[in-house]
Amino acid sequence: MAAHGTLFSGMLQEFEGAARILNLEPGIWQMLTHPKRQIIVSCPVQMDNGNIEVFTGYRVQYNITLGPAKGGIRYHPDVTLDEVTTLAAWMTWKCAVAQLPFGGGKGGVICDPTKMSKRELEALTRRYTAEIIDAIGPDKDVPAPDVNTNEQVMAWFSDTYSMHVGHTSTAVVTGKPVEMGGSLGRREATGRGVMICAREAAKHLGFGLKGSRVAVQGFGNVGSIGAQLMADQGAKIIGVTDWKGGVQNDKGLDIPKLQEWVAKNKTVAGFAGGEPLGAKDVFKLDANILVPAALEKQITAENVKDIKAKLIVEGANGPTTPEAQKVLNERGVFVVPDILGNAGGVTTSYFEWVQDRHGYFWTEKEVNERLEAKMCLAFNAVLETALKYNVDMRVAAYIVAINRVATVTKLRGMYA
Ligand code: NAD
Repeated sequence: MAAHGTLFSGMLQEFEGAARILNLEPGIWQMLTHPKRQIIVSCPVQMDNGNIEVFTGYRVQYNITLGPAKGGIRYHPDVTLDEVTTLAAWMTWKCAVAQLPFGGGKGGVICDPTKMSKRELEALTRRYTAEIIDAIGPDKDVPAPDVNTNEQVMAWFSDTYSMHVGHTSTAVVTGKPVEMGGSLGRREATGRGVMICAREAAKHLGFGLKGSRVAVQGFGNVGSIGAQLMADQGAKIIGVTDWKGGVQNDKGLDIPKLQEWVAKNKTVAGFAGGEPLGAKDVFKLDANILVPAALEKQITAENVKDIKAKLIVEGANGPTTPEAQKVLNERGVFVVPDILGNAGGVTTSYFEWVQDRHGYFWTEKEVNERLEAKMCLAFNAVLETALKYNVDMRVAAYIVAINRVATVTKLRGMYA
């Protein structure tokens, strides 16, 4: 397989622990550890200065056994095939844990959107869409936003696809503007899923969100909304950090005011409603719940000793290294893994796809109630598995996911 890098090796390590417990047949093991399809495209774009630049784009459909591939598109200078493939694999397991009729996919384009004009980004998006057009569609592969892509990028993507097929297709992407087929509640969905998992995990551990002390790394879509919804349940958000710095307040930060500050200043640093907190010091806070909601590989063998929280809910993808997870297990820390903790986003993307295909849209209350039901179902399935096999929640989530994909793989049989 191409692009078998360190991130993919980490995913394989997680996979293997669960696959061994399941006694997975070697043939199915092989099938589930190879991406079904990796597409590499070159996207020429005429830049504002008249020059042509060629951008490399990827779309990986890791596994489509349960349904169309599902996963975001990332615009970033550091995008690699290894990263996109690993993220597509994680999407496969995440969709399976959440019991969605989707496989896993992911896309990425090597570019620096901070240095591109809106027109250049639109041209790149349309060309990238056109280059992968044969592989995508509501029944084939349904992209969504990821790092540095947003509702506007999805609108361009949907329009380009619609122009090619000759009719308006809303269900080809999710995370669209609500005016053109997006779902109410999508923006808040990942943070809401984090809150639901934190609430359910705390209940299992014998405490509640009310009065809990919560530390959050990352204050973007996931971190800020997760923090707000946990504060709404009576938790105290005692510290938050982002790329630039942090802020702490032992009595609990005023999250709506902090959100207003960040909207203006692009960072939590300097917020007057608390004391400054070093960007790396969020893990040292005397919190009982920690929510990493920034980037991958943040909780490491080096800093894991600083963590005091007894519950970690992963909002980000891959924030805990396998070495750190081992130490957390030894210390009895309960970790809700990413493929469960942040599954609220893709679950509501699924609701968006369903609504688009029906041409019938739900109220925000309906969306949130259905999300609540799906997340609780997923959480309980993983918890029961963890208790049954006496394993941590990450291994349990992989057991649930691999079992579902393997079962359908066997039912479908071998096409040869
Ligand atoms: P975002 O861009 O809205 O926010 C990211 C936050 O992380 C920002 O506050 C940023 O300042 C902070 N950050 C960046 N570098 C940091 C660093 N070195 N140290 C501390 N903080 C840092 O992104 P998001 O949508 O909130 O996504 C956050 C994570 O959640 C990512 O791992 C993403 O893949 C994952 N995720 C997001 C969704 C979703 O629906 N948005 C769904 C599933 C998973």
